[in-house]
Amino acid sequence: MDQTKYLLDESRMPRSWYNIAPDLPFDLAPPVAPDTRKPVGPDAFAPIFPKAIIEQEVSTERYVEIPEEVREIYSLWRPTPLFRARRLEKVLDTPAHIYYKYEGVSPTGSHKPNTAVPQAYYNREAGVRRLTTETGAGQWGSSLAFACQAMGLECTVYMVRISYAQKPYRRMMMETFGAEVFPSPTDRTNAGRGILGKDPDSPGSLGIAISEAVEDAVVSGAKYSLGSVLNHVLMHQTVIGEEALEQFEMAGEYPDIVVGCAGGGSNFGGVAFPFLRENLANGRNTRLIAVEPSSCPTLTKGRFTYDFGDAAGMTPMMKMYTLGSSFVPPGIHAGGLRYHGDSPILSALVHENMVEAVAYPQNATFAAGLEFAKAEGIIPAPEVTHAIKAVRDLALQAKEAGERKTILFNLCGHGYFDMVAYERYLAGELEDLEHSEESIERAISAIPS
Ligand SMILES: *Cc1c(COP(=O)(O)O)cnc(C)c1O
Repeated sequence: MDQTKYLLDESRMPRSWYNIAPDLPFDLAPPVAPDTRKPVGPDAFAPIFPKAIIEQEVSTERYVEIPEEVREIYSLWRPTPLFRARRLEKVLDTPAHIYYKYEGVSPTGSHKPNTAVPQAYYNREAGVRRLTTETGAGQWGSSLAFACQAMGLECTVYMVRISYAQKPYRRMMMETFGAEVFPSPTDRTNAGRGILGKDPDSPGSLGIAISEAVEDAVVSGAKYSLGSVLNHVLMHQTVIGEEALEQFEMAGEYPDIVVGCAGGGSNFGGVAFPFLRENLANGRNTRLIAVEPSSCPTLTKGRFTYDFGDAAGMTPMMKMYTLGSSFVPPGIHAGGLRYHGDSPILSALVHENMVEAVAYPQNATFAAGLEFAKAEGIIPAPEVTHAIKAVRDLALQAKEAGERKTILFNLCGHGYFDMVAYERYLAGELEDLEHSEESIERAISAIPS
């Protein structure tokens, strides 16, 4: 029988995270202060992050050791399996070899605990008692709730209102792990009250929820935790790609193409950066493709410029692809991809043409997700259906060209809390919610220059 799963023994779990910053063949633009536009020192992050996290954010060390206690908790689900999607290959009748790394085996069903656990750990080591955060679809909030309870911290989550309504079970999961959860915008913060004053029915956005969580932390002396975008978050996620490299060795293959969906860029960076290192250092030539929704087309239609990470302008400005921090994306089901900006590292890589970016509308991605589910038996998170749609197109192109490409994608989460989205898709009720060109132009022109 042909092999389907490539499993690593626990003893082969990575001992360090890979920091791509020192290997980048260009200079990364530093975060700047909004008023002076001068680079901010690490101190600018001190009100919201503990020292160890800030050090990782600006680290120039190629490898950072994973603390033993973090590895112990990782071992609840890591190493994660690498699957060969043989049944999907048959359905597509493609000569391509399709592999997926499955991060849905984690306690909360996505890649997010890979960074939630170390973030909670470093905060506890620094004497912090409570963490605040935002969440879109709830994957990040539930992951931080899990990590906080594992480390004995309290956890407050601002959940984007549209997701709070669409995903009650995610909220219950956070509460089960002991977190308190509020639908954002709330009237608990100045940022939230400001938005509600202008638009009482605001569906919320990640940018707004980040403003609320940051304000809560700064005002109360708690710390804040971010589930994507920042350098240290992408670094924590590189355990995915490091394991995949070893698993490809077991399979006797090497990917020609690596694909991941991109909201803030963390699961994409996690799977892709170790392969990018191999491109840069070891003469490999793997194509890297980030996939986003056409309703929130940050990498494909955004502007590469300095912008705020949040709607209220409370964070230092970062150079990234952005749709403008006032952009409120349509309420698509892939809540984790509804962010106006993107990781500065991933943005720079796209800008330098070292990573490709594509965008797809909602119905086409659900069709590809359903086809994958029927073939492979795992119902994917709405976010990852974007990557699956791209892989499907690549596999069909390979068939057309008669090429035997090897494709890896990161199946970064399962969709078992997203069945309402699938129900609506099956009923033919899912709209291809699109942004209006005008709303993007307006938000982009509002970016302070
Ligand atoms: C959060 C999330 C995303 C988007 O975030 P990235 O930082 O871009 O990875 C994508 N997929 C799933 C399953 C998520 O939970």
